[in-house]
Amino acid sequence: MARNANGKRPEKANLPNKVCMTCHRPFAWRRKWRDCWDDVKYCSARCRDHREHNKGGTRRQTDTAP
Ligand SMILES: [Zn+2]
Repeated sequence: MARNANGKRPEKANLPNKVCMTCHRPFAWRRKWRDCWDDVKYCSARCRDHREHNKGGTRRQTDTAP
């Protein structure tokens, strides 16, 4: 008997999803993120590193010396 009579599905089905802030693709929950899922914003370390490329927060405008 392969099926559960409980109506429960295999764990695959119920995973939460997010969209990667770098590549804008949806990705599914992984076990390694179970403790920090709220903080996860990127699908992979590669995408997380990619944000370096995009930093333009505090830009120095005062380039003129007195
Ligand atoms: Zn990504």
